[in-house]
Amino acid sequence: MNSPTRSKSEAWLRYADDLGLGPFYLNRAVREVEPLPSAGAPTSARDVSGAPPSVSQRVGTQTGISPLPPSRDAGSLGGRSFPVLSEVEGSSDIPSRPLAGALPPEASSPRFSPSAPSPSLFESSDRVENDSLDHIRADIGPNCTRCKLHKARTNIVFGVGNPKAQLVFVGEGPGRDEDEQGEPFVGRAGKLLTQMIEAMGLRRSDVYICNVVKCRPPENRLPEKDEIATCSPYLFRQLDVIGPKVICCLGACAAQTLLNTNQGISRYRGEFFDYRGAKLIATYHPAYLLRNPNAKGDVWKDLQKVMAVLGLQPKRR
Ligand code: URA
Repeated sequence: MNSPTRSKSEAWLRYADDLGLGPFYLNRAVREVEPLPSAGAPTSARDVSGAPPSVSQRVGTQTGISPLPPSRDAGSLGGRSFPVLSEVEGSSDIPSRPLAGALPPEASSPRFSPSAPSPSLFESSDRVENDSLDHIRADIGPNCTRCKLHKARTNIVFGVGNPKAQLVFVGEGPGRDEDEQGEPFVGRAGKLLTQMIEAMGLRRSDVYICNVVKCRPPENRLPEKDEIATCSPYLFRQLDVIGPKVICCLGACAAQTLLNTNQGISRYRGEFFDYRGAKLIATYHPAYLLRNPNAKGDVWKDLQKVMAVLGLQPKRR
């Protein structure tokens, strides 16, 4: 395609996208999440089998992680988030390569790769005006029945912590203890998360902690696509309202939901992406660490990157 025709076509595609008519060749509008196993790392905190990835593993068939070159000026192409690798000032150990470089050759597949990101006309039109955590909680309501998770839940687990936190941790969904107490991360994995937070020199009350789904999946199974699709808009609103500097996704479910990808977490763990102006990083879920203590070192490295962004010193022992 010659260059004028190409520019014209790209302009039309952007225009259609902004009008909500697109996408034509990739459904970026659907936040469908299909958790997949990934090499040596859990797809989910609840997936602790350590099973090797299937050969037919789909890579980046949704929005995918943009293989754009690192950029500080993240854009939006009409989707909710437009993950772009970003570097952190003064932090030399943060990988600056595009995600594509992290993929083994056999895992590469065609991905959406815009050559010139340009902001969407309606980039922030999906922000709820004058929103607040109280509004979001009220919108969910005390007896939400929007998805099937309501049938077995005891409490809706909305989220807890500093409503102006610079750092938000996002997990998958409540477990038994959280369901009973109505607070996220209060069980064994939660205690480990609290230790992680304290090792960063923070208290639990300094950060905000929430989940992708607000009700416990029965038997601690993974949240299903329809449940995530129903509940995640409340998470997006929470993040918009809090406006943290850093979002730390605990496990694949949170990362895949916020990055709108189905790629396994080991492909992008420890790297920063842009999420609507915040720096998003994915690390392993504390429940995974309980079963795989050897992965704690990797998580600590990830948390140190977060600390560098936030200008935090590790807690003195
Ligand atoms: N695991 C999660 O993902 N979230 C919780 O709140 C507790 C355990």
